Amino acid sequence: MENRKENFSQWYNEIIETAGMIDKRYPVKGMNIWMPYGLKISQQLDTFIRKYCDSSGINEVSFPLLITRGQLAVEFEHLKGFEGQVFWVTKGGTDQLEEDMSLRPTSESAMYPMFSLWIRTHGDLPLKIYQIVNVYRYETKHTRAFLRDREIHFFEAHTAHESFEDAEKEIEEYLSIWKEVARVMCVPYIIHRRPEWDKFPGARYSNAVDTVMPSGRTLQLATLHQYAENFSKPYEITYSDENGEKKFVHQTTYGMSSRLIGAMVGIHGDDKGLILPPDLAPVQVVIVPIPSGTDTFSYAKKIYEMILASGIRVRLDDRDSYTPGYKYNDWEMRGVPIRIEIGEREVGSSSVTLVLRTEKGRKKVESSKLLDAINESLNLIREHMTSKAIEQLGSMLKDSLSLDDMVKWNGASQAAWCGKKDCADEIEAKTEKICLGYRLDIEKSGECIVCGNHGKLATFSRTY
Ligand SMILES: [Zn+2]
Repeated sequence: MENRKENFSQWYNEIIETAGMIDKRYPVKGMNIWMPYGLKISQQLDTFIRKYCDSSGINEVSFPLLITRGQLAVEFEHLKGFEGQVFWVTKGGTDQLEEDMSLRPTSESAMYPMFSLWIRTHGDLPLKIYQIVNVYRYETKHTRAFLRDREIHFFEAHTAHESFEDAEKEIEEYLSIWKEVARVMCVPYIIHRRPEWDKFPGARYSNAVDTVMPSGRTLQLATLHQYAENFSKPYEITYSDENGEKKFVHQTTYGMSSRLIGAMVGIHGDDKGLILPPDLAPVQVVIVPIPSGTDTFSYAKKIYEMILASGIRVRLDDRDSYTPGYKYNDWEMRGVPIRIEIGEREVGSSSVTLVLRTEKGRKKVESSKLLDAINESLNLIREHMTSKAIEQLGSMLKDSLSLDDMVKWNGASQAAWCGKKDCADEIEAKTEKICLGYRLDIEKSGECIVCGNHGKLATFSRTY
């Protein structure tokens, strides 16, 4: 295994395949095969996302993959923003299609013509839907599994409201969903208002949730967009208010992707391999019986059944062609939070030995107290992973560096910025760090690091 600190990029590329998350050998660039282990992690995360959306009154739908050129071209900024990234379907069999169709790069242009049919009166509002589907973007930059793919596992919520204020409230609601998602991933984050030139094509404004990876590059994890009436006007999504007056709806969207999986891999892993958050690990506890004179296997089977009955995701590793030592390393590499070792001594004393992925050392637990011990350990692991990740993020995000020091610093840096593109461009030209926008979660002002005018705290970083 590559050294994660010294060679993060190679370490990342290696671990996602070695751990059985994906296979990158598929012959289409930027499109990989989700292998069982990787798919289970992703599905587990989707289960939480569905739960939080459902309880927030956002309903799941599923729209078709194809979008006609005409639909896509309704909102000009939107078309302009995506045109270079669209995969086009131009033929059906050997027939030229009457109108080219795009594989959805995102679903505004698929959904909003339907919104204009579904929404009639204020009684139809708010309309809140989401879908979890694949989207397709013709990435011309270097692709990297989970972080920059051409086929992207994608979550998108779309809402329509009576007023701008109602739409603003929905963006707050999105953030509370995001907090829950971040909590189960044990991933810390910072929030930005993207600069005008970097907002979503067609949006009034874009807020983004970012994190800093161990490589020092920033990774965008989620985006929350306020569209106001920018899409409802071209797509003619109107409602009649209480006085019968016709008005345009105000819209928002919330997007996340398989980048979340990439973030978890990169942020939590170590030189031994993955470390998975307990809530998302396909296997939370693995039992490794150690062959000996006594029957460790039947005892291990009993322990397995007890844990399984409690609803914890447990695996009994009974592969007899591998040594216990090999199995320990194998499950550590796959990031399983807890390992249980069962040998002759454990059978004799009616106990087990617990080893936590995030800690050194072993602890012996009586089998009668095992379930409590597992639950306590899973909590401990959540806490350790979260606090270690927060510390790591802090160490990659430096404040108040001079421009010269920003050039030398590999991670992200924060400085006061006046909001002007010229100043952001100058920082980028000197430091190769891109302006991610003002921090929304911290209010701090100062003199712009370039021009000295009044500014607010912003982040500058290389990005994925
Ligand atoms: Zn400035």
